[in-house]
Amino acid sequence: MIRRFTLAAGLAAVLLTTCAPETGPRIKWGLVIHGGAGTITRESLTPELESAYRDKLSAALDSGYAILNDGGSALDAVQAAITLMEDSPLFNAGKGAVFNADGHNELDASIMDGSNLAAGAVAGVRHVKNPIKLARLVMEKSPHVLMSGAGAERFGDEYGIEMVSQDYYFTQRRWEALQRVKEEEVAAQEQGTVGAVALDRHGNLAAGTSTGGLTNKKFGRIGDSPIIGAGTYADNRTCAVSGTGHGEFFIRIAAAHDISALMAYRHLSLQAAAELVVNDKLVQLGAAGGVIAIDRQGHIAMPFNTPGMYRGYIDQDGQAVVAIYKD
Ligand code: ASP
Repeated sequence: MIRRFTLAAGLAAVLLTTCAPETGPRIKWGLVIHGGAGTITRESLTPELESAYRDKLSAALDSGYAILNDGGSALDAVQAAITLMEDSPLFNAGKGAVFNADGHNELDASIMDGSNLAAGAVAGVRHVKNPIKLARLVMEKSPHVLMSGAGAERFGDEYGIEMVSQDYYFTQRRWEALQRVKEEEVAAQEQGTVGAVALDRHGNLAAGTSTGGLTNKKFGRIGDSPIIGAGTYADNRTCAVSGTGHGEFFIRIAAAHDISALMAYRHLSLQAAAELVVNDKLVQLGAAGGVIAIDRQGHIAMPFNTPGMYRGYIDQDGQAVVAIYKD
C-alpha cells in the first residue's frame, strides 16, 4: 500500500515537474551562493546577526563578480566567494566550523570545472585555513580527485597552503551547539555550509562547496560536500550545483549529479530538476536541505525544504539579490 502510494506520488511529481516552466531568475552570467540551509527563522536571528549574514553574503557575491567582470573564470569566482565565507566565523566552513564528537574540527570541501569535468576534493582536514584552495590544488596539481586527512595536508604543505592550529576554527557559538547536541546524543545539521556556482562570460560553469560537516559527527565521518556528484557537480552541457543539508542523504541519491542527469536524460528544466531532487526525492527520505544551481543558459534555481537557506546571486550588471527565509 505504502509502496503503491509512493509510486503514484512519484508519477504525479514527474508529470508536474516535466510540465513545469522555468520559474527562477535568469542572468547572462554571474554567481550564485549559499551559506547553508536549516531551521533559520526570523525568530532565530537577531537583527544584528541577520544584517551580518546579509553583509557577508553580499561581500562574497561582490568578490566573485569582480573576477567574472574582468573576464575571469567561473572556477576562480567560485573559489573567491567560498574563501571569503570560509574566513568568516558566521559560517560552518573554515573559521567557525562545527565540532565533531571528539570536540575537533574536521573539514570537507570540493570544486569542479564544468568545462572539462575536472574535480578536486579534500575530506577530514584539520589544519587547512581554506579547504577550498586545497581542493583546487588536488584538482590541478595531483592526478587524483579526492584526498583525505593528514595525507591531504602534507600535499598542501608542499604547495605552501596556509595551515592553522585547531584553535583557529573555534567559535563559542559552535562550541555551545556541540554541548547542546551531545545531550541529545545525535549528529545534528547546523546551518552554515557554504557553496557557490558560477557561469562566466565564456560560457563555462563551475561549482564548489565547503563545510565543517555535522555537529557531533563521529570522528572520521565524511559528508556529501567533498563527494563529487553528491554535494557538488558541474558540467557545461547541463548545470553547476552545490548542496547543503543532511549529507548522508545527498550521498545516497547522488543529489548534485542527479539534477544534471535529470536535465540531460529527461530534458527537465533546471528549476524542475532541482525541485524534484530537493522537494521530492530528499523529502521522501526525510532529509532536510537545499541546493543552488545555474545552467548553461543562466537560469538559476535555489530550492530548499527547510525554513530558510542563506543564499544570493549576482547578475552581469552587478545587481545582487540576497535572501534568507522562505518568502
Ligand atoms: N552537507 C553537510 C554535511 O552533511 C552539512 C550541511 O550542509 O549543513 O556534511
